[in-house]
Amino acid sequence: MLNGKTALITGSTSGIGLGIAQALAAQGAHVMLNGFGDVEAAKAEVAKFSTGGARVSYHGADMSKPAEIEAMIRACEEEFGAVDVLVNNAGIQHVAPVEEFPVERWDAIIAINLSSAFHAIRVALPGMKQRGFGRILNVASVHGLVASAQKSAYVAAKHGIIGLTKAVALETATTPVTVNAICPGWVLTPLVQKQVDARAQAQQISNDEAKKQLLAEKQPSLQFTTPEELAGLAVFLCSPAAANIRGAAINVDGGWVAQ
Ligand code: NAD
Repeated sequence: MLNGKTALITGSTSGIGLGIAQALAAQGAHVMLNGFGDVEAAKAEVAKFSTGGARVSYHGADMSKPAEIEAMIRACEEEFGAVDVLVNNAGIQHVAPVEEFPVERWDAIIAINLSSAFHAIRVALPGMKQRGFGRILNVASVHGLVASAQKSAYVAAKHGIIGLTKAVALETATTPVTVNAICPGWVLTPLVQKQVDARAQAQQISNDEAKKQLLAEKQPSLQFTTPEELAGLAVFLCSPAAANIRGAAINVDGGWVAQ
């Protein structure tokens, strides 16, 4: 479905971004990865799924730095001729009561989880409009729709990215570029494993028990959402059938926000 197209996925060396990159590669897209950690392993994990001679590339832009984000979009356009699918996925978390929240963590979360999407969109959108195709997927969260205590920066950034999604979807409503948000509930990635570990340590309980508690508090299905499920939604949102889905925030959350 995406033969000849190029997808750029931020924060795709791990977790949800890696899963989405694999699924888009399996649809035939060239893929540009981004993020920290073991880059070669991530490239190999995605290359396994590539079809039709599509290539896997990487750019190491720090998503808290606007100039690096712009350079990444330009590098993708230069290497592949386009950014057809932009997945704004990079994100971090910090958990603390608001009066103890480190100012530096607040700034980093707003920069990486929210402002990075603004910068990537503003640079990538003109090329999408010019070429007559574009899919922008913002990986938000259930925390873009509802809040949890001790996550003020994350909740603010995720509510913000849903607002950004709606505004840009309106600005592009008569163009072939669609803009939507994906809102996962708990997904067992390194970002959530840290929260599992913190709970297990604080309460002196096992890792399994901590996972069960996390799910029981918020996610009625009692099952983690998987990167593969989110990737399936991303592929659908890139398909012709999704051409008139615009400004939506679609939750994949085991019933979290239905409560
Ligand atoms: P993860 O920690 O597995 O992956 C985060 C990715 O972002 C990694 O590739 C990391 O290298 C990259 N990254 C972090 N800081 C970066 C920076 N400054 N510049 C470039 N890349 C950077 O986490 P994940 O759970 O896969 O999270 C991906 C997205 O999904 C995030 O936006 C997160 O908020 C969102 N999300 C996750 C969950 C969940 O339960 N895991 C739920 C809802 C939403």
